[in-house]
Amino acid sequence: MRLWKRGLAILLLAASALVLVGCGGSEPLDPEARKLVVIGIDSADWRLLGPMIDDEGRLPVIAKFREESASGRMKTFYPLEKSPLLWASISTGVMPEVHGIRNFVKGSQQKPVTGSAWYAPAIWDILGAAGMSSSVVGMWTTYPAREIDGVMVSDYLPYGHGREKPLEGLVWPDSLSAEVNALRVDPGSLTDEDLGRFLTPEQLSIAEAEYPTEMQKLRDVYAADLGYLAVNRMLAQRFDFDLFFYYLRGPDMISHYFYRFLKPQDSRLVVTPEQEEVFHDVVKKYYDWADEVTGEVLSWFPADRQAVIVSDHGFYGPRKSGQKGAAEHSEWGIFLVRSPLYQPGARFNHIDLIDICPTMLALMGLPAAADMPGRVLRDGLTPDGQKRVEEMEKNRVPSYLSLRPAAGPAGEVDAGVDEEIRKQLRSLGYIN
Ligand SMILES: [Zn+2]
Repeated sequence: MRLWKRGLAILLLAASALVLVGCGGSEPLDPEARKLVVIGIDSADWRLLGPMIDDEGRLPVIAKFREESASGRMKTFYPLEKSPLLWASISTGVMPEVHGIRNFVKGSQQKPVTGSAWYAPAIWDILGAAGMSSSVVGMWTTYPAREIDGVMVSDYLPYGHGREKPLEGLVWPDSLSAEVNALRVDPGSLTDEDLGRFLTPEQLSIAEAEYPTEMQKLRDVYAADLGYLAVNRMLAQRFDFDLFFYYLRGPDMISHYFYRFLKPQDSRLVVTPEQEEVFHDVVKKYYDWADEVTGEVLSWFPADRQAVIVSDHGFYGPRKSGQKGAAEHSEWGIFLVRSPLYQPGARFNHIDLIDICPTMLALMGLPAAADMPGRVLRDGLTPDGQKRVEEMEKNRVPSYLSLRPAAGPAGEVDAGVDEEIRKQLRSLGYIN
């Protein structure tokens, strides 16, 4: 860590120490009580999850978590945006003009954007400066993985299966690379039993024979999610992080690929009765799986660990206009927080995406910065929560921007992997 960073870190720690002992003798914060698990489910939307819980009795983990949490719908940026930009604002607490992550690819050659594009520190950088550790796995725009206090596994992990060996720079620290790379799941290795989670045997045999493109998409998405789940499981068993950031990308991709079979009346693409019959339940069954995964991730930690479940936007489904990509997203995502600072069952009146980072920092006992436009969420606070939020808001530091990561190594450039990524983004309707 550079000296000036150290200087700011000390200032920061002094500020949080003030919070700990100042203001009429508050008790020092228990390091265990400051820890946080974040479960990010890309594109989760109450319009789908709500009826699944309330009318169909599905998603038991998220249903129970909602009872234990303060929750609400989260307003994402409008006009509707792409996930890398949104997750960067969730993680940094600043707007895209400041953090610099605007898109998946850049330039006329559509080169994928690398981790050096971040101009603002993410919550894991801020925590590192305050002496707290993080695990960040599969987050957007993290190739090559860069130095943080903890472990970072890149969003490029699922790519390049055809290569002789995995890309360099997928994991920080490099000492974990071999172990992490070995946990990748090859889409071709998935069995009928694995895919039986999403399709009945009859549906599966028709799908394998008639719809290889759809089946390949399902395999690719599920294999990537399974690989990341295995990596997270290993990291949770081996280490004890202050922030454990679990990110599940698959639900968004599955929604882009399969929502038209759930709502064929809205789709411009013709959906035949047979296709509807075969793929109608895939989106909902993928959420059944996401719910199980949520339960497993929570089970890795003590039952009183603070936890957040959040999405970056909702999902509307196919548009009558035929527009794809971010146009299929909806402006309402989800946000739930389980913590002694918030009353179980409370409902937030309004949540903006930009409020999430200040709120997560407050949960972890750190103030937001004055140049973060969001606020710490106040609805449903317990008396302890009110005290914490008042202290945090009073002690905002002027800015965390000087903690921005230095431009890291460029990583390994592999034209094949770049094209693999572009092909996937094209099939999702994100680029042309
Ligand atoms: Zn999407």
